[in-house]
Amino acid sequence: MLRFAGRLLTVFLTTLLPAHAQEPKPLPQADERYKTDILVVVAHPDDEAAVTAYLARALDEHRRIAVIFTTRGSSGENQAGAEQAAALGAVREIEARSALTTLGINNVWFLSGKDTASQNVLLSLAHWDHAETLEELVRLVRLTRPEVILTFLPGTFIGEDHGDHQACGVLATEAFDLAGDPVVFPEQLAGPMKRLPLENLRPWQVKKIYYFADAEREDIFRGKGPTYSVKEISKLSQKPYWRMALDAFRAHQTQAKSYLDKIAQMDEAQIEKMATPEDGWAEDQHYVLGKSLVGGSVTGDIFERIAPGAIPYARPEITPEPAHPDLFLELAGPWSFYADFRRAHGLTNLPHPEPPEIALQGHGTLVIPLWIHNRTAKAQEITLSATLPAGWTVENGTGKFMVAAKQTAAAQVEVSLPAPDENPAEKTPKKTEPQDVTVGGEANGQPIGQARLRVELRKRALPQ
Ligand SMILES: [Zn+2]
Repeated sequence: MLRFAGRLLTVFLTTLLPAHAQEPKPLPQADERYKTDILVVVAHPDDEAAVTAYLARALDEHRRIAVIFTTRGSSGENQAGAEQAAALGAVREIEARSALTTLGINNVWFLSGKDTASQNVLLSLAHWDHAETLEELVRLVRLTRPEVILTFLPGTFIGEDHGDHQACGVLATEAFDLAGDPVVFPEQLAGPMKRLPLENLRPWQVKKIYYFADAEREDIFRGKGPTYSVKEISKLSQKPYWRMALDAFRAHQTQAKSYLDKIAQMDEAQIEKMATPEDGWAEDQHYVLGKSLVGGSVTGDIFERIAPGAIPYARPEITPEPAHPDLFLELAGPWSFYADFRRAHGLTNLPHPEPPEIALQGHGTLVIPLWIHNRTAKAQEITLSATLPAGWTVENGTGKFMVAAKQTAAAQVEVSLPAPDENPAEKTPKKTEPQDVTVGGEANGQPIGQARLRVELRKRALPQ
C-alpha cells in the first residue's frame, strides 16, 4: 500500500514539474558528397571518352560530376590479357574508374546491365532486365540529385548504333521523367522505420537532359544544342581539354592496347599533331538538347538558366498518337518504339532520320519488322510486296496473309543482302551508298501503307 502511494506521488510530482526545454535535434540531411551537377549515363567502359573533353571544361567551372555505366562491358576482345566475359567486365570496371580518377571524378557507379552486341535497343533492354536497371538508375538520380543528365541519344542511326548505347539513353530519359515522381519506386522514398529501414531518399527532378549521338551523319544534329571546342586550355591542368581526355583514355588497355602502346612511344610534339580535324580527339563536342524544364536557348550553354535548388516535379507532356485509318501497315521494331517513345517523353523535336536508316553487314539478312493494324470489324486479306535495289532478294515474308478483325498482327519481311562494294586498290572496305527498301501492303486492291528503310551495306556492322 505504501509502495503504491509512493508511486502515485512520483506520477503527481512529474506532472507538476515544468516541462524540460529540449533542444531540437537536427534530422539527417542528404549526403552532400554525392550532390552532382552533371550526371553522365553511358553503357560501357570507354563510352565516357565521348564526353571527357567537355567534362574537363566543366571541372574548370567547378561542376561536380558523377558517371554511371549501365554495363561493365564484358563482351568483346581483351587486348591486354587472358580474362574474358565476367572477369573482363571486372577488369573494365577498374579501367573506367582509373580513367575518370585521372580527371578527378570519383563518384562512379556500375549497373547490372549485360553487354549486348546488337543494333536493337529492345534486345539490350530485354537482356538488361529493363525494370531492374531503371530502378537502380532512378535510385542513383535521387541520390546524386543532378542538375543535368548527359547521355547517348536514344535513336537508331547509321553509325556505331550500339543497342546498349541507345538503351542507356532510353533509361536515362525514363529516369529523368520518373525520379521526381513521388509515386514511382515509393519504397526508395520511405523514411526511417523501426525494424526494417527503407531508403529515405527524396524525389528529385533533373532540370535538363542533353544527348550526344552515336550516328555518322551530323547534319540533322547541327543547331540542336551547344557546341564546345576541346582545344582551350584547362585552368586546372594547363593542358588542352582534348589532351586531358586522351590522357584519361590511356586506362582502357583491354580495349585499345595496341593504339595506346603507339601513343606511349610518341613524344609531346607527335601527340600534339593528333589535334587535327581527321583525328577524333580534336573535334568539337556537339550536344543535342533533349529537354529543359528551366527554359534557356537550344544552343546556349548547358548550365544556362540553371540556378541552385530543387524544382517541382514535372509530369512529361504526352503527344497524342497521330490519326490512322482503320487498316494500316507500319514499320515496327525499334523504329515504331522510338516514335512512341518520343511522343511519351515530350521529345517530338528530337532529331531522327527520315526515312529510317540502318547499316548492315553485306551478305547478311535484313529483317523488316511490321505491324499490320486491322481496326475494322472483319478479317482482312493483306498482300505484302517489297521493292528492292538490284541484286537484293526477298527470302520470305511477302505474299498474302489474313489479319483477324480488331487485331494487330506482327509480320516480317526478310531480304537477302549482296556483298558491299569493295575497292581493292585501298585495303579498307569502301562504303556503298545507302539504298531504299520499301515494303508495301494492299487490301481489297487499295494500298494500306508502306514501310521504307534506307540501308547501307558494310563489310562489318553489329548484328541487326
Ligand atoms: Zn560503348
